Amino acid sequence: MSTQQSPGAIARWRGEFTSASIEAAFLRAQGDVIRHELTRSLAFCSVFYLGFALADVAHLGLNSQTLILFAVRLATAVVAVTGIVLTRRSANPGQTAYRSATVFTSLAMLAFLLVTYSRGELLLHGMSMAIMLVIVYLFIPNRLVNAGIVALGASAGFLGLVHAIGTVSPRQLGTMAMLLLLANLFGAAAARRDARASRRQYWTEQTLIDQSIRDPLTGAFNRRHLNAGLLEREIERARCDHAALTIVVCDLDNFKTINDTYGHQAGDTLLQDFARLLLSMIRDDKDTVVRYGGEEFLLILPDTNLDEGLALAERMRARLAETSGPHADVRSHATASFGVVSARLSSCLPGIASHALIARADELMYAAKRSGRNRVHGAQWEGADGVPAEAGQAPCASGTPVPNACAA
Ligand code: GH3
Ligand code: MG
Ligand code: MG
Repeated sequence: MSTQQSPGAIARWRGEFTSASIEAAFLRAQGDVIRHELTRSLAFCSVFYLGFALADVAHLGLNSQTLILFAVRLATAVVAVTGIVLTRRSANPGQTAYRSATVFTSLAMLAFLLVTYSRGELLLHGMSMAIMLVIVYLFIPNRLVNAGIVALGASAGFLGLVHAIGTVSPRQLGTMAMLLLLANLFGAAAARRDARASRRQYWTEQTLIDQSIRDPLTGAFNRRHLNAGLLEREIERARCDHAALTIVVCDLDNFKTINDTYGHQAGDTLLQDFARLLLSMIRDDKDTVVRYGGEEFLLILPDTNLDEGLALAERMRARLAETSGPHADVRSHATASFGVVSARLSSCLPGIASHALIARADELMYAAKRSGRNRVHGAQWEGADGVPAEAGQAPCASGTPVPNACAA
């Protein structure tokens, strides 16, 4: 499977999605996992780091130098706790975790250079440094790029410090440089593999979810997605916002004749063209197109009143009737009938049953068929549970709000 052409392509070295929006969605989806890992690893590292204050005292005795080192260790732990708190409170924990991890690891590495400078024992600290590099790459969740900059910067700083102190031989310094280089290489390779594997798994899950809720022929959503509460959620949202909601049922006219005349495959192509037309004329971030039956589609249009719904349906009807595409013969026969129903909802009243709303739009669509096809019929919802259009935005004028989840 090629990852280069796919929207889910992963950058070769960074190990992140090349699409910024998919990467952001991945981080949002992984937020809880990243937050959990960060909390655990920062808490563990801080305790460990503070614990080493005892080693400072054992090595240097209790004096002003050890107190300074303890203050530095404590400051690093405070930064870790701040990072944990910020990440826990963040609306986007993935992003915040990466920033916290970068600040914490940078400070921890700087503090470690100070400890090395104070305590000497350069060979021992060189080995500790290699272990810390692996921790930076693998155990503290961060972007590979950030982890790499911190780890390579710390390695260079450490080798520069050891060189400046001048108590190790050039041969030992060379060995130390090789050790740190290896730790960087292995750490980066393992972190990259992990970053790519988690993104591949995420993309596979997203692809499967998308396939399960879309109709393979037209790309519109399928009945399964509708039945999972799609319209009910929009009705509830419109109630909470005291907003208008319009739905449209549309059905290709005499489609059976088109199938019989031009063949099933031409019929399929027409279905695809019609769905493409519908999808191209809606608002991407708001409206929804569902393939409701064979050649019948349902459009859900939030924040849309009857006039706007009728105007959209009319534009769709006209566009289909007038367009001649690559299958001009089929297209020249293609028209559709539309039923439009619009309701203004309010949290003062119970929601409208979704099946009743669809049934009303269906009735209007069949009325359009009976009156000659290739036309749009529409009506305002008049059930007892909608707000009359003229009542406008005044909520609960004549009663108490119906208990609902709007405030949540
Ligand atoms: P009307 O104007 O009253 O809607 O008439 P119609 O012929 O469009 O309606 P009818 O219900 O009689 O026929 C619908 C046809 O749609 C019958 C069915 O074979 C066809 N159909 C359903 N799904 C598909 C599909 O996926 N591809 C193709 N090519 N045809 C389909
Ligand atoms: Mg039909
Ligand atoms: Mg039909």
